[in-house]
Amino acid sequence: MTNRTPIKPGATIGILGGGQLGRMIALAGRAMGYRFVTMDPTEDAPCGQAADRQIVARYDDVDAAMQLAKISDVISYEFENVDARVAEVLESQAYVPQGSRLLRITQNRIREKTAIAELGIPVAPFRVIDSLDSLRAAIADLGLPAVMKTATGGYDGKGQWVLRSEAELAEAYDTLFKAGTELIVEQFVPFQLELSVIAARNPSGELAVFPAAENVHRENILHLSIVPARVPDDIRQRAEAIARTIAERLDVVGLIAVEMFLTANGELYVNELAPRPHNSGHYTMDACVTSQFEQHVRAVCDLPLGSTELLSPVVMVNILGEHLQPVLDRIDQLPRTAKLHLYGKHESKPKRKMGHINVLAPSVEEALAQIDRLEIWTNQAEVNHD
Ligand code: AMP
Repeated sequence: MTNRTPIKPGATIGILGGGQLGRMIALAGRAMGYRFVTMDPTEDAPCGQAADRQIVARYDDVDAAMQLAKISDVISYEFENVDARVAEVLESQAYVPQGSRLLRITQNRIREKTAIAELGIPVAPFRVIDSLDSLRAAIADLGLPAVMKTATGGYDGKGQWVLRSEAELAEAYDTLFKAGTELIVEQFVPFQLELSVIAARNPSGELAVFPAAENVHRENILHLSIVPARVPDDIRQRAEAIARTIAERLDVVGLIAVEMFLTANGELYVNELAPRPHNSGHYTMDACVTSQFEQHVRAVCDLPLGSTELLSPVVMVNILGEHLQPVLDRIDQLPRTAKLHLYGKHESKPKRKMGHINVLAPSVEEALAQIDRLEIWTNQAEVNHD
């Protein structure tokens, strides 16, 4: 802790990836006086618009990565599927405090679940699958329902199949096998709700944890994050302690988002990790003393971490492609304590994340009611559910 050498404002932070997470890192870091350069294949990418400079290149372009390394005092990434050769170049030619060990773990569900279980933290029991026979054997062991997942490359529910009957096994195996990656099958956790906690750690070992968010998904895409989560205090504290343990024991530098399932009898199972800012932490931008993006900058630059105190109840609602026009049409009806964030994406497509709104209110129930009244996100499924 004594020989901290922070990278101070004025320095240049390089970001591999030009999406909305990079954009919001750059917006927070520029407010602090850092310079930014990003590398992304799409011209005028969301992060490129907010950075001082964008290198337009594919994520696996080693020469471009060399150029990024040359300009940057410190390099960070905003997604986990970093090309191995690029990671190697960056690490040998530049300072990448996040390192590649955590990336290696979180790029693969088998490594990830094994690493979490080794810390004594519960994950859904799982088996690695390499044939239809091994799937049948695993199901005999784990029972149904179960969830089959590709070990790499899946996100927002892609590369997943919920197995409910023996009759589906062959079709499910054939379909996911085509993805060409290793497969796992895990026990279905009958969860009551989903929670996530984001922890930050700097190279000096200082750690800070944001308040747990209660997350509501629609069609496997995050729809709402509700903070404070509507769970008893002891569960919130346990969830936050799990994130703290993971950040500490996996030597995280930067941020780690920990997604968990909460069962009816109060058990928490870790489902997934993300070694970066996370959609379920966007609420921090307006509701916490320090946003997850500022915290990320502080962490990778080895500045002291900021306070994670929650200043107001908040609900974050995602704006997908299909919500963008209705939001713009109703911009004059947004509550005065609703904070609109749009990512500057050129093309709006259904299900594509285009932005989000943080609704601050005296209670999360009031924030949820305000969101309902806008009638932008209502659909039949939710009406039935309520
Ligand atoms: P993932 O890609 O692992 O984040 O999973 C996406 C979503 O699928 C989760 O947010 C859950 O709603 C659901 N899911 C994944 N794994 C399980 C499981 N083992 N049991 C129940 N639901 C699951």
